[in-house]
Amino acid sequence: MKTFDKSFTQQEAIPADGIEAAVSVLSSGRLHRYNTGPGEVSEVARLEEEYAAYQGSAYCLAVTSGGQAMQIALRAAGLKPGDAILANAYTLAPVPGAIHACGGGPVFVEIGPDWLTDLDDLRVKAAQSGARFFMLSHMRGHIADMEAITAICAEFGITLIEDCAHTMGAWWQGTRSGNFGSVACFSTQTYKHMNSGEGGFLTTDDPEIAARAIILSGSYMLYERHGAAPAPAVFETIRLETPNCSARLDNLRAAILRAQLGQLDENCARWNARYQALEAGLRGVNGLRVVERPQHEAYVGSSFQFHANVADIPGFVSACGRRGVELKWFGAADPVAFTSRYDSWQYFGDMPPLPKTLKALATTVDLRVPLTFSVEDCAEIAVIIAEEAAVAA
Ligand SMILES: *Cc1c(COP(=O)(O)O)cnc(C)c1O
Repeated sequence: MKTFDKSFTQQEAIPADGIEAAVSVLSSGRLHRYNTGPGEVSEVARLEEEYAAYQGSAYCLAVTSGGQAMQIALRAAGLKPGDAILANAYTLAPVPGAIHACGGGPVFVEIGPDWLTDLDDLRVKAAQSGARFFMLSHMRGHIADMEAITAICAEFGITLIEDCAHTMGAWWQGTRSGNFGSVACFSTQTYKHMNSGEGGFLTTDDPEIAARAIILSGSYMLYERHGAAPAPAVFETIRLETPNCSARLDNLRAAILRAQLGQLDENCARWNARYQALEAGLRGVNGLRVVERPQHEAYVGSSFQFHANVADIPGFVSACGRRGVELKWFGAADPVAFTSRYDSWQYFGDMPPLPKTLKALATTVDLRVPLTFSVEDCAEIAVIIAEEAAVAA
């Protein structure tokens, strides 16, 4: 029996010019973003300017993680302890963690079998909860009907915050993911679309949100040294009203990221070629269901999900694992690695049940698609999964 022997957690090397730029930062000793020589623009400020241009947003702030970007975004958008906040229930642990850190009271919204936010449930909960915020996580890169979502938010006066950890580089009907809401958060943690180990961005077109975010990130009043910040006048009152939460990105990681930004679109296309090889190999396989992606969505296929309609999903996942294919099951009662489910975020106390979400996740199986896999590797992985599905069916 064929087995697969590459690692599902191995990234590509940092590009040579990124390594060179990183060494140059190390040689300078000036790693802190505000430690600049006369006339020098820091790597972090340059990165912010370049990412804002890529994203098409007026402002960009680089921070230490995607989770920090979300906490800062929530606070900069005006979330106060005790405020209700809508959040789609299918996401990863940093999202409820950010809500908890800000003292938000989450109102989780159902997802459907396509992993997208259930628009009917969103509307009902928007009306019932009176929440003024919606943290929308484009989980695993699945982008819901953004026209409908922004319409519901407008109707109820809700501030939309997008978690784009899995949609950096993705579009929905000609608009970049992240440009639908008031603020967007991105992660450059190793498993995302750019890799600085840890790191993140916040983007917005709102000058006051940007100014508050910059002060929150810990700017020591040096906001004039940012690469994509509003005019100094915007900071006038905000600077004294906003605490410093120390979440600055450093020049070393910025140098590594700047070298990757130019390759991002090409890498997104490479992810999609791999995704489509998996899709072609798994479509129509007995016992599995591949969900066709909506037409309006230009996704980045850095991970792949399917429904396993087999009796023993853990047995199927282990059988694939023995053949070197690492699958994650979102239906497990207990979180394994990154597969946490809303009912395991017990720090919020008892949450109302979400039967649709539980039903969708009960059969959801996930695999990472690192760029160190070739398209042929992905076809081979699909063959192994299909063979094991036949055994399990
Ligand atoms: C990775 C991730 C984040 C942010 O994670 P950090 O590790 O804090 O950078 C946020 N949301 C989702 C869905 C993620 O996968």
